[in-house]
Amino acid sequence: MTPADPIPSEPHVVPAGEHPIWQEALAAVNRDLAATLPELHPLCLIAWPPEGDEGEQVYVALAGGDAHGSSLQPAGSVEAALPVVAEAAQDTIMGCRWQVWPVCTLHGLGMHVAQEAGRPVWWCAGIGPREPAHARAAIGELATVHRPRRPNRKRRKDGKDREERRRRQGD
Ligand SMILES: [Zn+2]
Repeated sequence: MTPADPIPSEPHVVPAGEHPIWQEALAAVNRDLAATLPELHPLCLIAWPPEGDEGEQVYVALAGGDAHGSSLQPAGSVEAALPVVAEAAQDTIMGCRWQVWPVCTLHGLGMHVAQEAGRPVWWCAGIGPREPAHARAAIGELATVHRPRRPNRKRRKDGKDREERRRRQGD
């Protein structure tokens, strides 16, 4: 490949600014990843060059380049891309690491992408009528409910009680 060659022939990390909608959506998903799995490097977008009738395919991949699941479908806005990119991230983490992500820390359940009030959210199925299904946080905002140690947090005691209740119910 010469510097003049416009089309890379190998899978490659999508350069900054090349797919801004997907990249902005992935930045939101990576915020959730950093809040919940800080030991994992941020996910990236890997582009596979066009082949035969197929155009370039873009995947959400681990930092090392491994990906699992479908390529991303084009989206007209970041809001529209968020659920697509979030599910692709889940597929890659599950397929490459055998890990359910993200998990609702109240109920210990893997969450799914859903829409609430027109916003894409992480949705937990809940554990019955007393603690029904709920939206945990908007995608990109898991950090707001997922700070294990935060000084001066008034609701800390509530969180502890809830944790204890969950443990009792799990027994
Ligand atoms: Zn939950």
